[in-house]
Amino acid sequence: MIKIDAVKLPEARVYQAPTELDELFDGVEIEISPRWMGQKIRKADMYMEIGGPKHGYQSYIHVDVVPDENQVEDGRIEHIGPDIDEIEPGTSFPFGIWLRCWGSQLTEDHVDPLIRAGFMPFEQGEGWMLVNTRDTIWIRMNKESAHKNNWKKMGQALLGMAKINFPLVEKVEAQIIIGAEEVGGRDLIQQILDTTIRPEWEAYDARLMGLEDEDVDVFYGCTLCQTFAPNHVCCITPQRNPYCGIMSYLGAKALVEIDPYGYSFVMPKGECLDPVMGRYTGVDQTVYERSSRTVKYVNLYSSLRYPQTNCGCFEAAAFYIPELDGIGLVDRRHPGDTPVGLNFSKMAGFMSGGNQNHGTMGLSIRTPKSKKFLQGDGGWERIVWMPNEYKTQLADCIPEELYDKIATEEIGIDVPTIKEFLKTKEHPIIDKYWKDGEPLSLKVPKPNEDWPDE
Ligand code: SF4
Ligand SMILES: [Zn+2]
Repeated sequence: MIKIDAVKLPEARVYQAPTELDELFDGVEIEISPRWMGQKIRKADMYMEIGGPKHGYQSYIHVDVVPDENQVEDGRIEHIGPDIDEIEPGTSFPFGIWLRCWGSQLTEDHVDPLIRAGFMPFEQGEGWMLVNTRDTIWIRMNKESAHKNNWKKMGQALLGMAKINFPLVEKVEAQIIIGAEEVGGRDLIQQILDTTIRPEWEAYDARLMGLEDEDVDVFYGCTLCQTFAPNHVCCITPQRNPYCGIMSYLGAKALVEIDPYGYSFVMPKGECLDPVMGRYTGVDQTVYERSSRTVKYVNLYSSLRYPQTNCGCFEAAAFYIPELDGIGLVDRRHPGDTPVGLNFSKMAGFMSGGNQNHGTMGLSIRTPKSKKFLQGDGGWERIVWMPNEYKTQLADCIPEELYDKIATEEIGIDVPTIKEFLKTKEHPIIDKYWKDGEPLSLKVPKPNEDWPDE
């Protein structure tokens, strides 16, 4: 039973899932396979939504690994809140899903790949759509699949995926909270997040933050998103976590050790050709081979020149604003337009698909916390615009002297207004990149084309 010390939980329904390997999925009716990745479910087609913007992005999927096998009751599923057939079609809830795992060789480093496994029934489940991670997670199920699902079966699928993808998991149990009003609604989920889960995430991130790209001998890569974005290759380094935000360097390392022939692989560093841009011969070579020989170079720390290709599951994006010779950031939560005249979803639509889009690059929400974030483009000194909410969330990692100089939608989204604002605030971009107080626009090559000087 997953007890949450700081919060009193309402009564749960308890189910027992099969624990024998050949029976793990008995009774699960949906297919779970990479061919269902990247599905979009429109509001009109949705039967149920959990997480996402309606609830202020206060939901979670959380995995922990415990040291004592007596802390896990194998196959136990606790379900709090209404079941799928007990709700009105089209309903939306905040939610929380917690998987607790034990295995004699399982460690904290396995948490990331385990989260990936935990996502699979939603990410790769027939009739389900999943975007984002952690508290910004957003899941929908379509009307066609409603009759095939209930929370007992989904719980069983979650436990089953954790076990078959992770033979190191010897015991696993799940707690599923669908935050309907009668069980405490968003308040309940938020209390769990604030008292218990966010501190765990912070501790996990802090561990990773101590590691720099120079400290390690190899990087890792992932091509799982090639199922819907051909030629896409994610480069995973300690200071550059991948777009989906699910995986991290330590997670990829653990995954490759368990499954050396899977979607994740070792990316040798080779020789460092440019430490500021983040250009490595080993990265270039691996990306070239794994992208069907379409992408020749990748700069790990640039969104402008030879950035990593974009799949489609990025949680945020960096985009070049030619009229300001600056870079804007936007995350999926922000519904409004940006200074380039597009909102996040339109921008994501044109930049997705596995191309190398000079000037437009996907990000995980957490990427800007890295010290090497866009350092090849000038780092924070090149950032001129971002949504207010995202800026507030990143306040800790934006250099203090720059914080008030970065425009938001509250200043405006039209270029002349932002330009005036940057001048008034004496944004460093003016001295470092503009000429005589005016921006010089770069002529950015088309996707997959080379810069003229390369
Ligand atoms: S975004 Fe990158 S790391 Fe995440 S699943 Fe796709 S290819 Fe793998
Ligand atoms: Zn992806």
